[in-house]
Amino acid sequence: MTISRCKSEISVAQIFPLLSVSIWDIEPDAVQRQLDGIAEKPQIGFARLTVSTGQVFSAGDQSLAVSTSEKSFDVPSPSRVNESIGKLEIYENPRAFYRELLYSVAIALVGYGVLTFLICALVIYVLKRELEYPLRHIAQFVSALTPDRLTAPLQLPRQAGHLRDEIDLVVDGFAVLQAGVTGYISNLDELVAQRTAELETAMASIQRLSTIDSLTGCFNRRLFNERIVQELERAERYGRPVSLVFCDIDHFKQVNDTYGHLLGDQVLQAVAGVFERYLRHEVDWVARYGGEEFVIVLPETALAEALTTGERLRKAIENDLQIAAEESLQVTASFGVAQHRPGEIAEQLIHDADLLLYQAKAAGRNRVFPVL
Ligand code: GH3
Ligand code: MG
Ligand code: MG
Repeated sequence: MTISRCKSEISVAQIFPLLSVSIWDIEPDAVQRQLDGIAEKPQIGFARLTVSTGQVFSAGDQSLAVSTSEKSFDVPSPSRVNESIGKLEIYENPRAFYRELLYSVAIALVGYGVLTFLICALVIYVLKRELEYPLRHIAQFVSALTPDRLTAPLQLPRQAGHLRDEIDLVVDGFAVLQAGVTGYISNLDELVAQRTAELETAMASIQRLSTIDSLTGCFNRRLFNERIVQELERAERYGRPVSLVFCDIDHFKQVNDTYGHLLGDQVLQAVAGVFERYLRHEVDWVARYGGEEFVIVLPETALAEALTTGERLRKAIENDLQIAAEESLQVTASFGVAQHRPGEIAEQLIHDADLLLYQAKAAGRNRVFPVL
């Protein structure tokens, strides 16, 4: 027989021999000591021994003798079998039971707590590895995305051969988006290049229109005013000669009046053609100064040579004007030639040449002034 219920068990067979001997030998102190020893067990709250002689021994908390359940045992005689020499009543200690219960609950709670913690840690680890790290990588990649790095592929540090998931879908989607944006940008680049070329052509055309006289193809007066200043500055700087020839078609009004304005225009074009053919390319240059007036600039040319050029032009206009027109049409022009003097500004040079032209007109036209 055992007294169980609590963790440790008390064997009645172990207790009773000594107890029954002590009772048999009538040794109250020994009996009491053994009873105290029994009551010291944590699961026993109170023990009472009623000896057959009527003597009663007790140990432990007597208040438990009322409130908790009792177990009673007959104490056998050490000499005669089946004879009882006393009755031992045991009262359990409920506090020990609750303590044990509390202990078990605490152990279970700690166990579950540790298990829960381990499961949570595992879940967090998996979530971090599978979600947080890839997402953070994607966020860093996106935040560092600049126009020049637009084609850089998004590569995630993931284990090879992992199961495809939503993160892979995001990466794939991103690659598609990058390809789309790159294509769009390259289309835009092409469009911009095309538009830029068109713009440059338009600008060149505007530039040409703003500097060229549309009827004759010579420079216009605006360009002349700008370029003559630079030409004179360069001549001054290097101490080089430069001459200016003023040309005015004789009786041009009559040409218009006789043959019409359209033919007058053709005459102007033909005179410009003479200049084109009889002047030095890339060196001499001509501007239409007014209606039928032209200015010819001869860089690196002193007066004598300029007069020769003027004479050559005069003869060419008189004899070599390429124009499909009336047989009777005779075009001549008068010329005033002046060489730039050191320190002279453009207006003075033009004035000098214009004055000489006036003199050529006054002298009968179709001539070059000054006369050599
Ligand atoms: P001069 O010998 O004294 O120079 O006499 P001119 O008739 O040539 O001079 P004038 O200044 O009297 O006449 C110039 C004429 O040139 C007047 C104008 O109608 C004509 N003209 C000016 N620009 C153009 C043009 O672009 N086309 C044509 N067809 N005629 C023009
Ligand atoms: Mg004139
Ligand atoms: Mg004239």
